Amino acid sequence: MAPPPGGSFPPALDALEQENLVQVIKDWSIANGLAVRPPPAIAGNDPDGILAINAPVTLFPSPFPKACFAQAKGIQQAYNELYANISRDEGFLSALVQEVAGGDDFIANLWDVHLRVKKEGYVQNLSLGLFRSDYMVHHDSEGLQIKQVEFNTIASSFGGLSSQASLLHKHLAATEFPLLQKPSAVSNLDLPDNNSTTGLAAGLKAAYDAYGSSPSGHPTCVVFLVQDGERNIFDQRHLEYALTRSGAPVFRLPFSQILSRTSIPTSDPLRPLLYHTPHNPSLTFEVAVAYLRAGYGPGDYPSRSAWEARYHLERSRTIACPTILTQLAGMKKVQQVLATPGSSTLERFLTDPDSLSAVRHTFTNIFPLDNTPAGLEARKLATDPEACQRYVMKPQREGGGNNFYRGAIPKRLRTIPESHWGAHILMELITPPPVANVILRNGKLEQGGVICELGVYGTCLWDQNATGFLHNEESGYLLRTKGDQSEEGGVAAGYGCMDSVALV
Ligand code: ADP
Ligand code: MG
Ligand code: MG
Repeated sequence: MAPPPGGSFPPALDALEQENLVQVIKDWSIANGLAVRPPPAIAGNDPDGILAINAPVTLFPSPFPKACFAQAKGIQQAYNELYANISRDEGFLSALVQEVAGGDDFIANLWDVHLRVKKEGYVQNLSLGLFRSDYMVHHDSEGLQIKQVEFNTIASSFGGLSSQASLLHKHLAATEFPLLQKPSAVSNLDLPDNNSTTGLAAGLKAAYDAYGSSPSGHPTCVVFLVQDGERNIFDQRHLEYALTRSGAPVFRLPFSQILSRTSIPTSDPLRPLLYHTPHNPSLTFEVAVAYLRAGYGPGDYPSRSAWEARYHLERSRTIACPTILTQLAGMKKVQQVLATPGSSTLERFLTDPDSLSAVRHTFTNIFPLDNTPAGLEARKLATDPEACQRYVMKPQREGGGNNFYRGAIPKRLRTIPESHWGAHILMELITPPPVANVILRNGKLEQGGVICELGVYGTCLWDQNATGFLHNEESGYLLRTKGDQSEEGGVAAGYGCMDSVALV
């Protein structure tokens, strides 16, 4: 990491102060579930699976412009509405899917599942979104403002850990920071509350309640569909426990076991999704809500039967979070079509003039890489060794580690046929003002310049065939921080860490 850019933040610590702070964070984190399962190198010595380690976290909350924070929170309901409306517009999504499917089998397969279910008819019109809109602070002639990195419509993670990271920093501000020898940079911090855990759980509960009683006569439940060997399990557990406290039974089911542990009675035209508990096969629940924390990338579909499992889910009566259409609304291609300079596509989905202009204000330039005139111009930028330095190129993927930055863009393009370039988008890099902090990761400290990415959660429940919303809330935030030498920032992918905002 680069040396800290100077200034009084974060406060300089002597060895004893540092040791003390680290010890307090280690203990608080385990005591409060700001934790992950260990990486394979450590887990290899843990055959019984009993170990948990601290989630990577900053020692201090990072300074974040107050107006930018308010701006991001203030437009979340409009963003929820935008993406719900996109999900309702099958024709719009169909056209974009056709543009990328030729170069992207994963998107093509998702679309096929949707078409199969559409043919026999959907039996559930309600759709639940647990969204997260991600931003970085951008500095230009208008001053500081947020620019959107991406909008997530599936498996938006870290809500469970993020409220804990906020609580950790509040705890340190109340106990440890005032004891430092140079406390001025971390005194009187403005640390906003963060309801990400309860907010996301409330979204799931709204869908659970809206499902109503079970026509099959079984008790209803929520199922979390998860990946095998998930390390970020406590993030999910926090949501599960909050939801259980609010009165909804929750089960975790590996995505790979959907077909063996759930069924849809062939004789029942309502197609309830029945979940059979493994420890007591005679005990059956009806799945009111299926919350996907898996299924967002090709790795979860190693065989035809995994695609059959997704089809099974989509055709059932369960409220899917998300449906295929909502998942596809999160394609980077959709974001590009909304944000392409001069485009008026946004007006198709939002009508309120204030919402329209506030949402549009968060867009940065994003270009297609197809053979339209705009795409051909962008291809020149992407293949030029100098111009490409200002861009990131993204395929239609989620979960981190899939993008190509700067000089890697032309190199990557040379490895794929030109007819497939259109499955990617080209986005201007956002360069936030420098911030310094100290990251505690796997017991080691990393000090220096950092880049912060703010995510705002949104929960939304709607009827695909109606207008309006049954539930539309802004649901807390995530601050993810990475070393300024790292291009990707995923906490799960190992580059980023948990943080919280100190408003300035
Ligand atoms: P994913 O869906 O895989 O999370 P993202 O679009 O969020 O993909 O990109 C991953 C990471 O790459 C982001 O968290 C951010 O750190 C970085 N990144 C993406 N787009 C930009 C951008 N326009 N400017 C700067 N960094 C970006
Ligand atoms: Mg992202
Ligand atoms: Mg994403």
